[in-house]
Amino acid sequence: MNKNVPLLFGNMVFNEEVMRQRLPREVCKSLLKTMEEGKEIDPSIADVVANAMKDWAIEKGATHYTHWFQPLTGATAEKHDSFIAPTQGGTVVMEFSGKCLIKGEPDASSFPSGGLRATFEARGYTAWDPASYAFVKDGTLYIPTAFCSYTGEALDSKTPLLRSIDAISREGMRILRLFGDTTAKRLTTTVGAEQEYFIIDKEMYEQRRDLMYTGRTLFGAPAPKGQELEDHYFGPLKPRIAAFMAELDEELWKLGILSKTKHNEAAPAQHELAPIFTTTNMSVDQNLLIMGYMKRIAEKHGLVCLLHEKPFAGVSGSGKHNNWSVGTDTGKNLFKPGKTPAENKQFLLMLAAVIKAVDDYQDLLRISVASAGNDHRLGGGEAPPAIVSMFIGDELQAVVDSIVRGTDFKGAARGKMNLGIPSVPTFTKDTSDRNRTSPFAFTGNKFEFRMLGSSQNISMPNVVLNTAVAESFRQFADVLEVAEDFDKALTGLIKETFTAHARILFNGNGYSEEWEKEAERRGLYNLKTSVDAFKTFTAEKNVALFTRHGVMNAVEMASREEILYENYAKVVNIEARTMIDIAGREIIPAVNAYVTEVAATAAAKTAVIKEIDISAETDIITRLSTLTAKAYKTLSALREADDEAKRQPAGERMAEYFLEHVIPVMNELRETVDEMETLTAASYWPMPSYGDLMFSI
Ligand code: ADP
Ligand code: MG
Repeated sequence: MNKNVPLLFGNMVFNEEVMRQRLPREVCKSLLKTMEEGKEIDPSIADVVANAMKDWAIEKGATHYTHWFQPLTGATAEKHDSFIAPTQGGTVVMEFSGKCLIKGEPDASSFPSGGLRATFEARGYTAWDPASYAFVKDGTLYIPTAFCSYTGEALDSKTPLLRSIDAISREGMRILRLFGDTTAKRLTTTVGAEQEYFIIDKEMYEQRRDLMYTGRTLFGAPAPKGQELEDHYFGPLKPRIAAFMAELDEELWKLGILSKTKHNEAAPAQHELAPIFTTTNMSVDQNLLIMGYMKRIAEKHGLVCLLHEKPFAGVSGSGKHNNWSVGTDTGKNLFKPGKTPAENKQFLLMLAAVIKAVDDYQDLLRISVASAGNDHRLGGGEAPPAIVSMFIGDELQAVVDSIVRGTDFKGAARGKMNLGIPSVPTFTKDTSDRNRTSPFAFTGNKFEFRMLGSSQNISMPNVVLNTAVAESFRQFADVLEVAEDFDKALTGLIKETFTAHARILFNGNGYSEEWEKEAERRGLYNLKTSVDAFKTFTAEKNVALFTRHGVMNAVEMASREEILYENYAKVVNIEARTMIDIAGREIIPAVNAYVTEVAATAAAKTAVIKEIDISAETDIITRLSTLTAKAYKTLSALREADDEAKRQPAGERMAEYFLEHVIPVMNELRETVDEMETLTAASYWPMPSYGDLMFSI
């Protein structure tokens, strides 16, 4: 293969370069300004932009366009319209107006709205987001859009994100101005999301209805080999996987996605893709495209990509690391420790802002990654625990400690300098080892939030980060703007903030039991399950945060809370129904067939030699019969529990019922069935085993 990557990169994207080539100068300037400033587009240029987009898209093979949006289903949505417009003579021309570019009106009545639609307008509309590039995919021009109700309530993941990007820029600029920055106009947050996933064989996948309906295995005894040899991590890529990855890269590059790193992950059949970071808004859209392409390209190779957080019990699940940073439009990274004392003070204030934000809004960060799927991972001794804490590296920790104690910093052997705060050296980059068990780590010039689930839209974690840090900035600016002695106020503020929020900093083993106890002593949240977490979403302080910064109002938050509970209940319900179905209609019949064969074998043996030893057969028959009876009983109990759950009032109560009364029965059923698997002949077992699924490629 000889590919000209620079040539194919971004060739399906209506990016800045294409805009410059295709749009009249003034129009292009106006559009770029709109994109940068996140303003609404001037309607007078919309027709020109739309027409240029259409001509370009047609050259790329497009016949249709779609507004592409992110309803609260977690998936993306699209409705394709062709460009055709009839002429008098019975022919057609290709048309695309500014109006169609800017606004769409999908029939939105079937998307989740968490009760919003009952209160407000029934319909929703989509609005073009010029800050994320349009692109051509499958003969269709894709236009990234936000999705709102007619009364303006957000019905999607993008709208609050755009609002939060505004909020952090607005409040952060107040701080930058205080430090004498007169040139920057805006702050931009950037994100690079590392994506983990599993790849299995498609034929095997199709024999597992649990994977097909729920994305994870609901049954499966452990294979003799798991990930204990650590031989898969960074191991050589198998040819089928390498071919899949090569095609994936190519397709992502065409869409302007900076797919950079790919490797085998810890569990057998597990892999990772990391792109180079970009603006948060684009990163969210691109991560959705990455997930979509992983699935479809895998299919082309006779494979299936599993994005579930925990496809297999007993080996690592999949997450996503959200690398997040804040910079200026002039190219400064605010989390880069500086070289001069003044720069370092600004850096320490930025650090303080994030420490405060993470501590004040631990619960929101936890909720932003909460889902039925991710519950199998967080706290499972492989992924970060459900307790939110922060790791800043030994060197920075020592700086923070010395500021809190008011003592000199005597860390690394570097030049000390007096910042007014005790002696603090210039620190260039975190030099310490990374703490892989930390949910939230400072890694040089960015923060890495590691609790995200592999299948989730990464929007909400970034909404929380942006808004919580905006709130820190706001509070800091309120103090500093009126200070008589700026330096003194700054020093005081840094010290106060570090002191008040030191409890969120933790550099030990996040997987350990001691940490759980220690975290409790420190008064940190330990929201073990999603349902526990959801309960804090609309706490007064959280509603105050989002409303103050115009990110979500109380009604929007209540609707989202509703959807979170609803989604949780639906997912667990589907899993329970799938288990009942598979256990009742596949597993018990298969085991009975095997037992019949064993019984026939015993009878045949005894017919030949009356006194022959048939203790093995008797034992298998006895044990499997006992387990079958138990499985049947548990299955019936599960059916009852599931029916009862659905009789609960929708929302919190129903979700809670599933958590407390359905999931434990599911676990019990699984345990019984997995034991049956170990006793049943492989040829009788109705679906591929864990070993088949994870080691067959
Ligand atoms: P690791 O060692 O964890 O792989 P890297 O430095 O390679 O860390 O970066 C991991 C991810 O962080 C990549 O997606 C990268 O693009 C992203 N990243 C790096 N710098 C930034 C930044 N300033 N803002 C957001 N993401 C960043
Ligand atoms: Mg990482």
